[in-house]
Amino acid sequence: INTIGILTSGGDAPGMNAAIRAVVRTALAAGKKVKGIRRGYSGLLEEDIIDMDAKSVADIISRGGTVLYTARCAEFRTEEGQRKGAEICKKHGIDGVVVIGGDGSFQGAKKLANLGINTIALPGTIDLDIACTDYTIGFDTAVNTAMEAIDKVRDTSTSHERCSIIEVMGRNAGYIALWCGIANGAEDILITERYDHNENRIINNIIEKRKVGKKHHIIINAEGIGDSYAMAKRIEAATGMETRATIIGHIQRGGSPTCKDRVYASAMGAKAVDLLSAGATNRVVGYRNGEFVDYDIDEALNMTKDIDQYLFDISKKLSR
Ligand code: ATP
Repeated sequence: INTIGILTSGGDAPGMNAAIRAVVRTALAAGKKVKGIRRGYSGLLEEDIIDMDAKSVADIISRGGTVLYTARCAEFRTEEGQRKGAEICKKHGIDGVVVIGGDGSFQGAKKLANLGINTIALPGTIDLDIACTDYTIGFDTAVNTAMEAIDKVRDTSTSHERCSIIEVMGRNAGYIALWCGIANGAEDILITERYDHNENRIINNIIEKRKVGKKHHIIINAEGIGDSYAMAKRIEAATGMETRATIIGHIQRGGSPTCKDRVYASAMGAKAVDLLSAGATNRVVGYRNGEFVDYDIDEALNMTKDIDQYLFDISKKLSR
């Protein structure tokens, strides 16, 4: 491999910049050239490609978002788009690519690999919903941001003796909700993986906890649960307890990455370059049992994972 292209794709996540920096600097140290492909697969098809040197990644490790920008690209889902992408890589002398993104981005990486461009994927998503890894770039920062926001809502909720529903990100993945639920001492945690849509159980829980003197009732909803504002109205009507919903939203995606996200993303970026240097392709880097590992992309895409049942079980006991 002589020239490595790097792109970020799908939703942005804090720590992506640390991974970009690590790819650039590890590649340069190995005597390779690096090209930044801006705006994900869209930018590849538009040939939005820039040369990168050690200085082009200076001062980015502490910044959220991605300096390469990110996008979703329908055209790259087509065979024609994928062939065009591989041709453009060849035209620019790019013989290895590092893709940072979620499962969808991995599908694109696999297509590039099949077309003869050595490609390595890194898991970048705040949702933690990538089966082959215990860690994804951005989760740690996002969950800390959400935790701090929920602490603030909890203060005002206690003062007013309210019920607060706080909706966190994660689409159909309840990791942020579960972690915050435990970290913030929520009374109820609703995640799509386990929610039975039995609102009466929650209403009874609120009434019971009121009786034992709880000053607030915090419910953490994962994004996929449904309309949190509508749920707040129903709960207020049924319990008589003032109930407000707060949707934390995109602040969870931004901000300066935590130390863990900076360090792990750096290690993953460096590993991607090591894999390319060793001639590997169609691999995804993961973190399992305390080690950075890599898997075949097809194998990784076929893996499944579930929320940690032990954490879910104890979350109930801890909220008594
Ligand atoms: P996030 O989890 O943040 O949404 P993601 O990587 O899963 O990240 P997607 O929108 O699913 O986000 O995928 C990002 C891009 O990857 C798509 O816009 C598309 O260009 C490419 N992609 C997704 N699926 C495929 C596929 N089957 N074949 C080729 N490219 C794909």
